[in-house]
Amino acid sequence: MQQKTNTPFLVDLDILNTHNEKGCEACNRKFSLGDTVVMACGSWPDDCMKLIHEHEAVFDENTRAWYERTYYQSLAQS
Ligand SMILES: [Zn+2]
Repeated sequence: MQQKTNTPFLVDLDILNTHNEKGCEACNRKFSLGDTVVMACGSWPDDCMKLIHEHEAVFDENTRAWYERTYYQSLAQS
């Protein structure tokens, strides 16, 4: 299943199976079916490819990418 990375999408069984070992990087909770999630940038070492809940992310119009909220605020202050 290919998703546009800048579009929020719903958690399905596929995502549950591949991501729920670690859960959400932002709140450390497990995902549930039907949660709205985004691929986001954050303080983690990987690229902008961590799955987090949409309400924990901010969309940056300049880079057309999602950022984990706390990380985004720390970027804005620096
Ligand atoms: Zn979360």
